[in-house]
Amino acid sequence: MTTPRIAIAGAGIGGLTCARVLQLHGFDNVTVFERESSPDARQQGGTIDLHADSGQEAVRAAGLYEEWRALARDEGQEQRKVDHVTAALIGHQPAEGDFHPEIDRGQLRRLLLDSLAPATVTWGLGIASATPGDPKSTVTFLDESTAEFDLVIGADGAWSRVRQALSDATPEYTGVLFVETRHDDNEELLDLTGHGTMVADHEGVLLWCQRNSGDHIRAYACMRAREDWKPSKAELLEVYAGWHPSLTAFLEGELIYRPLYALPVPHTWEHTPGVTLLGDAAHLMPPLGVGANLAMQDAADLALAIAEHGVREGVQAYESVMVPRAIEYAEHTKVGLQEMVPARPIRV
Ligand SMILES: Cc1cc2nc3c(=O)[nH]c(=O)nc-3n(C[C@H](O)[C@H](O)[C@H](O)COP(=O)(O)OP(=O)(O)OC[C@H]3O[C@@H](n4cnc5c(N)ncnc54)[C@H](O)[C@@H]3O)c2cc1C
Repeated sequence: MTTPRIAIAGAGIGGLTCARVLQLHGFDNVTVFERESSPDARQQGGTIDLHADSGQEAVRAAGLYEEWRALARDEGQEQRKVDHVTAALIGHQPAEGDFHPEIDRGQLRRLLLDSLAPATVTWGLGIASATPGDPKSTVTFLDESTAEFDLVIGADGAWSRVRQALSDATPEYTGVLFVETRHDDNEELLDLTGHGTMVADHEGVLLWCQRNSGDHIRAYACMRAREDWKPSKAELLEVYAGWHPSLTAFLEGELIYRPLYALPVPHTWEHTPGVTLLGDAAHLMPPLGVGANLAMQDAADLALAIAEHGVREGVQAYESVMVPRAIEYAEHTKVGLQEMVPARPIRV
């Protein structure tokens, strides 16, 4: 029996999880189309903690739990808070249990990629648009070629092209800017960060630092700012005036600007046979530790629903669970971001 022809836009954590779970359930006509030219075209992001009730469930559904455990860092669950003036420890949550161990995003993506059947991912072929149809939907690629599929899954992230087939929504600037820095082999920064996450905050300005594998550190300076503000090192240090030098040391090196965007809440669409969404494409929200978990949970839920009910009913069953779940998290993270980086004062 031929299995449905399924296109997945995007080889991120969500798209790859979906492809893997579908293949485990006998769907052998699944192709992931990725805009980037190769798995190593871009440095993958920092570290991701997979939650026992979402990301870890998806890893189990993907049959990769043991492999993930071998890489997961339980000690990464440690959380520290330090005073912004003295850098003294003022709060400490030791790493306990295994609810949310950390793994580097690059390691997780590699694990998923290596689990797929050969040639599942077509690299360097982005999707420009999807046109829903019954029984076939049409994909137009960025090179202007076209192809027909029984289902197109938009797992193409924040600025999804597939989303445009279902909804007019576009991400809006949240008012919060992250400025990322990266550090290797720096004992002082490692000591201050501990084994997991360290934060310091003062009047709506935060410093958020995470230890990745290999003693690599990613730090994020977080503040309210204009959407187009790209502070120089000196301007950034002005925002952190009065902070302890061992904390402003995290702001050294190349500055990578990440203004945060989110889809309007609630983001919904009318169920349309032939096209669906998962992960950030469906529900981009502020990065408060759930986005990748939800993308993986969506992906596993969708694949399992298709395996159980077939493409048409499976997508409907999936959306009836995923959309309300996403709305709940989107509301939480919207409020969470307001609390974490209060609307006043606006720095610049
Ligand atoms: C600073 C920061 C820290 C975060 N930390 C965490 C965390 O600790 N825990 C957590 O759960 N979440 C975290 N998140 C959120 C998480 O990164 C996202 O929610 C998650 O990556 C979404 O996965 P995805 O597969 O939906 O999309 P993505 O990971 O964005 O993958 C989308 C893929 O689609 C490709 N693509 C894009 N357009 C096209 C196209 N037109 N055609 C084909 N391919 C295309 C992209 O190249 C990419 O490979 C964080 C986010 C940020 C910004």
